[in-house]
Amino acid sequence: MFDVQRVREDFPILKRKINSYPLIYFDNAATTQKPQQVLDAERDFYENHNGNVHRAVHTLSQEATDLYEAARETTAKFIGAKNSAEVVFVRGTTEAINLVAYSWGIPNLKAGDEILVSTMEHHSNIVPWELAAKLTGCTVRYGKVHPDGTLDTADFEGKFNKNTKLASLSQVSNVSGVINDVKHIAKVAHEHGALMLVDGAQSVPHMPVDVADLDVDFLAFSGHKMLGPTGIGVLYAKKPLLEQMSPFEGGGEMIRDVTVNQQTERCGISWNDPPWKFEAGTPNICGAVALAAAIKYLQHLGMAEIFQHEKELTVYAMEQMLSCCTKLRLYGTTDASLKCGIMPFGVEGLSSHDVALFLDNYGVMIRSGYHCAQPLHQVFNLASSARASFYIYNTKEEVDRFVKILKEMEQF
Ligand code: PLP
Repeated sequence: MFDVQRVREDFPILKRKINSYPLIYFDNAATTQKPQQVLDAERDFYENHNGNVHRAVHTLSQEATDLYEAARETTAKFIGAKNSAEVVFVRGTTEAINLVAYSWGIPNLKAGDEILVSTMEHHSNIVPWELAAKLTGCTVRYGKVHPDGTLDTADFEGKFNKNTKLASLSQVSNVSGVINDVKHIAKVAHEHGALMLVDGAQSVPHMPVDVADLDVDFLAFSGHKMLGPTGIGVLYAKKPLLEQMSPFEGGGEMIRDVTVNQQTERCGISWNDPPWKFEAGTPNICGAVALAAAIKYLQHLGMAEIFQHEKELTVYAMEQMLSCCTKLRLYGTTDASLKCGIMPFGVEGLSSHDVALFLDNYGVMIRSGYHCAQPLHQVFNLASSARASFYIYNTKEEVDRFVKILKEMEQF
């Protein structure tokens, strides 16, 4: 049984008051708060085990290496990866997608090739592909989105052809919360000989995600959106792909040997095995250790239970918002079966920033703007939107207070 009050006790920040009101944190799609267990894991690492990884023979280096590699194992199991070597630690989703665009894309793409993304993508699943297209001459194609924010699946599938080399799609939109059937799209991609990348920034923290079941080639996600620290994220990739791919950055740890012949001034380099081939320099060791603590916390609650909790909150919030506030508009589909806990909305006559600032006065944190997804806002015919997004510690009582403040806002 999911006990939200018990969960809340683990989050020190939820005791904060803003302008003497209890903090209500509804900006979880941007970043999430951290439980004591994650804060303790970070502190324990620096207080007791801090050393650099894979380098020295001394005890602290060994302990740090063991913790770092154990974090990789934990992460691999969490997403159903067969082998922990398929988990590359990166800074976050943005870096993971850039890594694929540079290390797989630039050596493999040429004029005439196509990359297929959708119009609902976060800029970090658009811009790296446009940059790769500039360098390789390939074309980026954009699957259409319906006016309600759902993917036009027929259009997306229809855009696959013999030139499609990779499809890159978010599993959950960071603006509308719409869930895409990436398992089906991966199958279609493979039938066309294309690879499939899933942007899991908004799905991995909120629902069960299993890469073996989805049969995707790449999965990208960020630690800070799932109770972990900033600066740590994951690129999952099938091992044969990682073996073929060129390194992303050069430096220490990603090489096996570097030799320089002083006479000829020739340098010979051989790469380390994946995943280390993609982790040049000192990685975010403590971040990985804390991410593993976050994953264990989520696993303890159960990903299916988390998804259900957020679904119930979303249904409740949409009902309350629509029935109580006449000037309020929900953007995108209101069919809860198609989405998870992200709700874009607007209040007639007010800008999204006005709405967010008004709520902030009462201790309620939401996001305003275009959420790094301008093309989807163009589909909605909006310059910006307000966005409330839920996580494991949010409650119906918080939704009630949020709706009460929205009603007050309407009087102005
Ligand atoms: N993709 C989606 C769907 C997102 O929501 C975000 C962040 O909001 C990103 C990518 C980028 O994540 P990060 O900033 O952690 O790299």
